[in-house]
Amino acid sequence: MSPPPVLLWFRQDLRLSDNPAVDAAARADAPLLALFVLEESEDHRPLGRAARWWLHGSLDRLARDIETRGGRLLLRRGNPTRILPEVITESGARSLLANQRFGAPGTSDATLFETLRVDGVSVRLFNGTLLHHPDALTTKSGTSFKVFTPFWKTLSIALTEDLAPGSPLPTPPRLDAPDDHPRSDNLEDWTLLPLRPDWAGGLRDAWTPGEAGARDRLDRFLEDPVDRYAEGRDLPGQALTSRLSPHLRFGEISPNQVLATCRGNRSPGAAAFLREVGWREFCHHLLHRNPDMAHRPLREEYTRFPWAGEAEAAASLTAWTQGRTGYPIVDASLRELWHTGWMHNRIRMIAASFLIKDLLVPWQEGERWFWDTLVDACPANNAAGWQWVAGCGADAAPFFRIFNPVTQSQKFDPKGLYLRRWLPELAALPDAALHAPWTAAPLELASAKVRLGETYPHPIIDHGQARKRALAALKSLTSPAP
Ligand SMILES: Cc1cc2nc3c(=O)[nH]c(=O)nc-3n(C[C@H](O)[C@H](O)[C@H](O)COP(=O)(O)OP(=O)(O)OC[C@H]3O[C@@H](n4cnc5c(N)ncnc54)[C@H](O)[C@@H]3O)c2cc1C
Repeated sequence: MSPPPVLLWFRQDLRLSDNPAVDAAARADAPLLALFVLEESEDHRPLGRAARWWLHGSLDRLARDIETRGGRLLLRRGNPTRILPEVITESGARSLLANQRFGAPGTSDATLFETLRVDGVSVRLFNGTLLHHPDALTTKSGTSFKVFTPFWKTLSIALTEDLAPGSPLPTPPRLDAPDDHPRSDNLEDWTLLPLRPDWAGGLRDAWTPGEAGARDRLDRFLEDPVDRYAEGRDLPGQALTSRLSPHLRFGEISPNQVLATCRGNRSPGAAAFLREVGWREFCHHLLHRNPDMAHRPLREEYTRFPWAGEAEAAASLTAWTQGRTGYPIVDASLRELWHTGWMHNRIRMIAASFLIKDLLVPWQEGERWFWDTLVDACPANNAAGWQWVAGCGADAAPFFRIFNPVTQSQKFDPKGLYLRRWLPELAALPDAALHAPWTAAPLELASAKVRLGETYPHPIIDHGQARKRALAALKSLTSPAP
């Protein structure tokens, strides 16, 4: 009689290599029951549409990778507190292996695992998501880090000392499934892909979800762009960043693999790149301590921020999401997002600053739009990114530092490579007029076939006045109540 299977629960770690839970399962002298649960429960934030598209591709790939090693991926949907005991009863599994999730969703993991343990199931958890367990990295006084530079310094030292994660774990050659395999859902039935209209064409052109796609992205980045990353990472018109974010988000590659692959590269580009991977780590540590970070400002006083009235904020949000604010750099960014499910970091900061500070729309609205439309929508990085721009997060840009969308555009896209790609209706304008079409001479507009208010909108707001309004709003927040 074959031994009871080991249950391996995949979550944000959709890969077979350098996956400690997979490695442990492959070493157990028992068949392996690999499970993914499409979580539906009150304390679980449903994935946005772009992330659902990604998840479909990622699971499809993972299932095939498991099958080539003799296994099968079991798919179920619902609340894990119901699904896991069900699968355990159906399969006779007595042990569960999984990689930990840090932060959201609250404490439900701990409760679930405790219940299983009480029922006699052995539960082993690993860290396959971060370079360090958030509880293992603290300040000298034992508190959590709130500032990135000392965090990164401490983590960098830890990575070169005995706390360093080991060499990446290999992909197991065999992952044999039990003879009696419980019933699985069909991935197609989950309708993670859009039906009609099929808006995912741009996503399909831009991305290859899955472990092999992640590896390929990293290899291509390290072949050349990494050398120009230190200066080039702020230039949205050129592909000089890694675009690994959705792969890291779904755990198709581990930060440990990224680190190990870059280790021999001593260039400033590689150092700057690893520092950004360090920001990912920092954001996850913040989320671990602040699970409600997507809604609640880390700086308490910002809960009282005087945002624009409801009707104005709603109209502004619509114009912003549709890329029709009349500020080319902002509009290009929202169109890139809609088309590809991704946005360059510099541009995320400009777009977010415009929504929060020029339009005075609560940052949580922007966070929600990104959550729905980004393929890399991440509970930690997205919330931390929005709070950083809004000035209410940890180590955040101060609120009074308000990006000027025109000068940012001139500085980081001087030749208009990015703008022309996403705003074809402005492409024929000369460089000098492209960043602020309302300043163009009538003849320039006419020869570029631009009719403001018809082919491209007038600016939704005057940036100079918006800036003054935002600073006044900030002042009201910091002045003592009368
Ligand atoms: C308002 C706002 C929202 C954001 N939302 C997300 C999000 O939902 N998901 C997400 O992964 N990133 C988010 N970021 C961070 C950053 O913009 C993206 O990680 C980055 O643009 C991804 O591109 P890349 O993979 O080419 O990055 P690279 O420059 O190649 O960096 C390598 C990796 O480091 C991490 N990283 C880079 N920059 C940051 C950063 N500022 N904060 C945290 N981690 C970082 C990412 O995992 C990234 O893949 C947000 C930033 C802002 C300002």
